[in-house]
Amino acid sequence: MSQYRGRLAPSPTGYLHLGHAHTFLIAAQRATEAGGTLVVRNEDLDRRRCRAQFVTAMLEDLRWLGIVWQEGPDQGGTFGPYSQSERQSYYREAWQELYHLGLIYPCSCSRRDLALAASAPQDGDDEAIYPGTCRTKTRLLVKDPSDFNWRFRIPEGKTIQFRDGCQGDQRFTAGTDFGDFLIWRKDGVPAYQLAVVVDDHAMKISEVVRGRDLLKSTARQLLLCHALGFARPRFYHCNLVCDDRGVRLAKRHDALSLRRLRENGLMPEEIRTRVLSLGQLRENSPH
Ligand code: GLU
Repeated sequence: MSQYRGRLAPSPTGYLHLGHAHTFLIAAQRATEAGGTLVVRNEDLDRRRCRAQFVTAMLEDLRWLGIVWQEGPDQGGTFGPYSQSERQSYYREAWQELYHLGLIYPCSCSRRDLALAASAPQDGDDEAIYPGTCRTKTRLLVKDPSDFNWRFRIPEGKTIQFRDGCQGDQRFTAGTDFGDFLIWRKDGVPAYQLAVVVDDHAMKISEVVRGRDLLKSTARQLLLCHALGFARPRFYHCNLVCDDRGVRLAKRHDALSLRRLRENGLMPEEIRTRVLSLGQLRENSPH
């Protein structure tokens, strides 16, 4: 096994669809080609939206697609647990570090942002730029994050650059592209941005493969990586899959779940072919 460690990080909020298959087949292919390890991480932080039945279904669907992983919630591994709902102590530790560094502050604004923060910001539902209302509040002396929402204070005007393996050079400006972002909700749930950075680091992920709608989130996450003293992973943001009319598949909740396609007699090989036709998966690779 090489040093390459990749991951699939589905959220069990519904059935996997063709868009997931696209990203996950590419992620699996990159891990296989690098002779590395593939990790499945169950991103079940949002208790209101996640369901146990979808966890079982997503593992089944991934297996059906022919994806093979070496670590995950179903088989354990050195860096477990592999379900985010069981990793609270890691997130608290990171919260504490950011708190002691004076890089986060409690915030009492914006219910909508709070509702969204536990999930990855897809489908254009990204956090609005925060106007900074609570930024200058007197710093509270607290021992843990409970009872408050917490935001990361971005370094205004700082440029965040990275080279993406698929999309090329990327450049974002803190304060223009995004504002102080949520890292913790007062109901005790860490935000997606914090959880994913903490887990990718703890699980020694060397390359993050995901959809290109998360490029801006990557810029935020790089700020967190830097603040926490974590090394950056590499990134590969795949193009998004759209239907014939240009509607993003993730937005369609009808006939395109892998379950439905399978019930209708579609074989995993045909899914691979469809993904291949989108040009990002290469022929002749095992999975
Ligand atoms: N659970 C997130 C999602 O479904 C993962 C995003 C990521 O790969 O960082 O979209």
